[in-house]
Parts: sequence; C-alpha cells; structure tokens
Amino acid sequence: MTLARQSPRWRPAELLVPTPAGLFCPPADIHIDPVRPVPRALITHGHSDHARAGHGSVLATRETLAIMALRYGEGFAGSQQVAVPGEVVRIGEVDFTFVPAGHVLGSAQIVVESRGLRIVVSGDYKRERDPTCAPFEPVPCDIFITEATFGLPVFRHPPADGEVGKLLESVRLFPERTHIVGAYSLGKAQRVMALIREAGYEKPIYIHGAVETITEFYQADGIPLGEIRLVAGMDRKTLGGEIVICPPSATQDLWARRFPDPVTAFASGWMRIRARARQKGVELPLVISDHADWDDLLATIREVQAGEIWVTHGEAEALVHWCGTAGLKAKPLHLVGYGDEGEAESEGEAADAPVA
Ligand SMILES: [Zn+2]
Ligand SMILES: [Zn+2]
Repeated sequence: MTLARQSPRWRPAELLVPTPAGLFCPPADIHIDPVRPVPRALITHGHSDHARAGHGSVLATRETLAIMALRYGEGFAGSQQVAVPGEVVRIGEVDFTFVPAGHVLGSAQIVVESRGLRIVVSGDYKRERDPTCAPFEPVPCDIFITEATFGLPVFRHPPADGEVGKLLESVRLFPERTHIVGAYSLGKAQRVMALIREAGYEKPIYIHGAVETITEFYQADGIPLGEIRLVAGMDRKTLGGEIVICPPSATQDLWARRFPDPVTAFASGWMRIRARARQKGVELPLVISDHADWDDLLATIREVQAGEIWVTHGEAEALVHWCGTAGLKAKPLHLVGYGDEGEAESEGEAADAPVA
C-alpha cells in the first residue's frame, strides 16, 4: 500500500532547462524562443533572433504573431495561438502567462509556473518609457531569467527624449543637411518616430523601404507616428533639412550619400561607446536602447525578489558577479543564437573600452 502523495516541487532544471534549441520546459513539452524549428514554441517578441519561422505551433501575443506573419508570411508556423497578456494558458500541468516586457510592440515576458515554482523568462526588456509599447511589469518570482545585452556598469542610457532633442537641435542648426537616422526596423525606428513627434516636430518623416511594413503595422495598431513618407520615388537632393529613418546598415551605403550633405545619426545603446560611433562613421550618436541598462538590470533583479538569477545572453559575467555580491544565486545559461537583431549591429563586442 502506498500513501497518497502530492506531486513534489520541481527542481528548477526540471521545469526549465537550457538546450541547444533554446529554453525547454519538459512537463509542457514546449520551447521558449527556440532558435531551431520545434513542435511547440512560445515566443516573447518579433525580433528575428527570438521569433523564427518553421515551428509546428506558436503561442505569442497578437502583435508578435502579426509581426511574424509580416516578416515570414502567413504560413510561418503550422498553427498559431494568441496569448492574451495576463491570461493563464495551461499546458500539461504548467501555467504560462504573458506579461508586457516594454521592449517592442507586443513584447512579453513569459511566466512559467507549476507546483508552486515560478520562473519568469523576461525575454528582451527595458524599463524606460516607450510610447510605442506597454510598459514592463515586474512579476515576483523564484527564478528570474534575464538578458544582459548591456550588462556592464559603463552602460547607462540617458533619457531618450534628451537624445531625440539632440537630433532636433542638429536639424535646427543645419537646415540644409539631411539627417539620416539609423534605427532598427522593428521597434527602434518607430520609437524614434514617436519621440520625435512628442518633441513637437510636425514635418513629414521620411523612411527607407525596409522600415515601411513594420511602421505601417504600428500605425494600424494605433501608435500615432504622424505623416510618414517613403524616400523611394523621391529626388533625394530635395530632402535637405529633412529627417530620414533607415536600417543601421543603410547609413553606410551609397544610398545614404545621395542626400544633401547628410548628417549620419545612429540610435543604439552601443552609441554609449564613442569609439564605436567613430568607427561606424556616426556623426551624431544617439544613445537610445530598447534594452535595460546596467542600473535597470539591477533594479529589476531587486524588484522581482527572485532568489536565483539565470542570464541568457549578453554580458553575463559581470551581472552574475554582481548577483553574487548581492547574495543572490546566479548563473549564465550561455544560450547561443541570441543577440538582439535590434542591437546586433554591434557585432557583439560590448567589452570595447569606453573612451568617454
Ligand atoms: Zn529583441
Ligand atoms: Zn534579443
């Protein structure tokens, strides 16, 4: 005769385990942000290092599913299911809840909870205000899984409205020059546009074709970005004094040189490293990031009150070390395949010596 027993509490690695395909939850048989095709995927947001095509089924927010369909086509997965933020989806004996991450439109943390153990997979996130997406909501948990893209004390992002102020001041000072702003096409570009509008700039903003689809999606989703015009089809010589937003790579193309005496700007957390701005030929670096900076990583870790921190990617070492000094258990997961496309222009060398 056996005594009736309650299911024992999971050991953390039984509920969520790093694998080559990404984080895997064995009792639910799902992966989170898998980097390889899997039968069942939960996806935090639409950046291409997290949201890939070819999974059997995908559970993600409405916006993330829409962004994936725009980028990969409607058939990007065998089936799709909408995750409504705040609503629990039970798979097997595991409860999953999507909670806003404040990173880009539709971005979510995923709360994984079973048998009294709660793990939060934060995905990419930031704490700074962003008029284009819902703000990050801290969720108290046992284990907090965080990125560390800017996990070094040198990375402290100034307020983004001040950076956009620098752009508009430059436009005022150089009314004959075209200001070309490199900004990643999902999230950063639209955030920069929204901040430009908040600063009171009312002229049309011009965009590169690579930014068009996602920008239209943001507008259709109710994010006011004012009048946006495509550069394509225009005589670029007539665009002196205008603001043009394009993918970061385009700022270094021949494409960019056809504007009148262009001022090259780049909106990225990496612009905190002046050597990098110089190396990329950026005349006007704008330190605007969709990732938490060092201070916000630490503040978030304190806020969620987790006893244990797992670091997915980025500058894991410094963050893990800090956790140790704060009396928290912490470990790097060494997940491969991430490095936000939004900030990936960096080629991942955050350890550059800061020059300023
Ligand atoms: Zn991202
Ligand atoms: Zn990422």
